[in-house]
Amino acid sequence: MSVASSSYLTGLIGAGIGPSLSPALHEREADRHGLRLIYRTLDINALGITPEGVGDLVRAARTLGFDGLNITHPCKQLVIEHLDELSPGAEALGAVNTVVFRGGRSIGHNTDVTGFAQSFTRGLPGVPTGKVVQLGAGGAGAAVAHALLDLGTDELILADIDRDRASALAQSLNKHFGPGRARAATPSELTARIAAADGLVHATPTGMADHPGLPLPAGLLRPDLWVAEVVYRPLDTELVRLARATGCPTLDGGAMAVFQAADAFRLFTGLEPHPERMLEDLADLVGAPIPQP
Ligand code: NAD
Repeated sequence: MSVASSSYLTGLIGAGIGPSLSPALHEREADRHGLRLIYRTLDINALGITPEGVGDLVRAARTLGFDGLNITHPCKQLVIEHLDELSPGAEALGAVNTVVFRGGRSIGHNTDVTGFAQSFTRGLPGVPTGKVVQLGAGGAGAAVAHALLDLGTDELILADIDRDRASALAQSLNKHFGPGRARAATPSELTARIAAADGLVHATPTGMADHPGLPLPAGLLRPDLWVAEVVYRPLDTELVRLARATGCPTLDGGAMAVFQAADAFRLFTGLEPHPERMLEDLADLVGAPIPQP
């Protein structure tokens, strides 16, 4: 990929994104390349724009000369109808977290899927992935589920307090990956499903600073069950601490956040990012020890 420009204007559209780490992650990486890159947050709450207004905002950014945008909650699906083209991954998922303006066209990508896949392969190398239980079937959950089925998970059990959401995600996964690969669990079968699983992925907001706590009973973890967390603020969620203390191979949510940013940086600039340096930046930004593979 060739670099078409010597400076870049990028940003993030979403609601309540003031504390986002994306500006710092992208701008620090650009500094390492000796590149001028500005990354602005376009917070729809602060701007008084409804989520449905995302199309106008994307068009305005394009008119103003932005090279690309990240898109987050609640606009990842709503933005699709306003784009000229989708990558195969974004099309399969039905959600876009990165838009690139190139050659007069707007192209939607999804680097949450590729970000989780790289983070998983780096952080939990060689773990069995045949049977996985996933808590949470929202935006992050859908991306993670696609990544897991891409990585070869045979049976993905989805659990969500909103059972319809888990069922709808299972249905759309089976349509894309083939029948029987994903299934929504009833709350009563969760214990047995985790007992039979190789690994557990957590993709609900539980464990974030404003949603403290554990998303499942502590006694369901065991040392031969790997645990992958998606929450990354804080990096050391209650689940991550419990999983480590239990002896589970454990992955926190930081590397997914970094690899999705690194993939977006590559799409925006055409330059190869340094994810290991970006991981150091993330740890620095959230005040945590540097995550090791
Ligand atoms: P979302 O609101 O789209 O989905 C969350 C889902 O979890 C909902 O379907 C909800 O019903 C379900 N849920 C809530 N509590 C539950 C519980 N106790 N048990 C079962 N299901 C429960 O949110 P999202 O965008 O998917 O984000 C989820 C988390 O992932 C957030 O903490 C977010 O910060 C994090 N995230 C991390 C990354 C990363 O790069 N590491 C990327 C995206 C999101």
